[in-house]
Amino acid sequence: MTRHLTLIGAGLAGGLLATLLAQRGWSVDVFERRGDPRVKGYAGGRSINLALAERGLHALRAAGADGAVLDKAVMMRGRMVHSLDGGQQLLRYGKDDSEVIWSVSRGELNITLLDAAERAGARLHFDRRLDAVDFDAMRAHFVDDTNGQHSEHVFTALLGADGAGSALRNAMQQHTALGERIESLGHGYKELEIPPAPDGGFRIEPNALHIWPRGHYMCIALPNDERTFTVTLFLPLTGDPSFETVRTGHDARAFFERDFADAVPLIPALEEDFEHNPIGQLSTLYLDHWHLDGRAVLLGDAAHAMVPFHGQGMNCAFEDCVALANHLERTPDLAQAFADFETERLPNARAIQAMALENYLEMRARVDEQDFLLQRDLERE
Ligand code: FAD
Repeated sequence: MTRHLTLIGAGLAGGLLATLLAQRGWSVDVFERRGDPRVKGYAGGRSINLALAERGLHALRAAGADGAVLDKAVMMRGRMVHSLDGGQQLLRYGKDDSEVIWSVSRGELNITLLDAAERAGARLHFDRRLDAVDFDAMRAHFVDDTNGQHSEHVFTALLGADGAGSALRNAMQQHTALGERIESLGHGYKELEIPPAPDGGFRIEPNALHIWPRGHYMCIALPNDERTFTVTLFLPLTGDPSFETVRTGHDARAFFERDFADAVPLIPALEEDFEHNPIGQLSTLYLDHWHLDGRAVLLGDAAHAMVPFHGQGMNCAFEDCVALANHLERTPDLAQAFADFETERLPNARAIQAMALENYLEMRARVDEQDFLLQRDLERE
């Protein structure tokens, strides 16, 4: 019997899961809403770079994709905390460079995983947005948004790696209650850029995750291998200051000069970036159930989107991929494999979601004080 599975979404989780399944002998079709980023260029839309931690690396190792990813990653040894007075302090994550995290480009990582999936034998179908699912006839309907064409695909089971706004989740909810709750954080984010220095190097310490904690809000900056940094401003959506009061490029400059003065000379296109880049929304998605018997299952952001403050959304999605591939290998009955996957991963996802929310308070408000105490303790040892 051919063991066939259909994945929805060729993002981070979709690329890795397709690789793992194809490597284990599954026949895999992957349908992705966007065009092929290797042909059309990457159309990411959010967070240009991401922190890859050991959980995610472990999963990439299982697919043999760790080497290609680390080749283009920038090591981050710890947090570089920028105080209001312009002072900086590096707080290491671990005892030495064996305990670090990595800054990776979302676009490059996605392309590496798509290449790995194709090499393993998965069939990738781009410009195919899942539009509707007939779970009785086991047919999925797709639309090509570039030309409006419709197509159909007969499936054995659908694996939903189609992100926080998952169309598969919506289709499943027409058959079974998943217990969906979405809690908005009430804060948004905007990305800005620190370009390379005039001599082509990094403008600030490259091997660190930079944080400017300021109480109710903060900036962070992660390095990119082309010697730039992606700065993310996290700010409430309402109140003062918020994205309601800091609206224009002019407002942003005044705000940064007051609260992030040492960052201002690093971001020459502050006004343009601020006016041009969208405000991203942040929320947590809770589901009580992740699967519809043996016909469909959700993973990654489609199952448990979280706020980004622990840098663990992708890492957690990658762990899901390994767990799901293992359960599918172990248990021939798809409904049982999906149920076992949910039993293993749902409590873990809930724990990481809670930690991600807690870490926002930690990073924006207490990082100065807490890390000072941590550093002092380390120095005493
Ligand atoms: P996605 O990456 O969203 O991929 C979903 C894919 O499905 C996309 O390719 C999309 O085009 C496709 N798709 C959507 N709808 C359809 C459809 N109807 N039909 C077909 N295809 C469809 N995580 C970390 O681990 N570390 C970090 O440092 C980090 N930083 C972050 C910073 C920010 C600002 C944000 C917003 C998130 C961050 N995350 C981080 C979280 C991380 O981005 C997500 O957890 C991760 O992208 C989830 O992967 P995914 O494959 O489940 O979903």
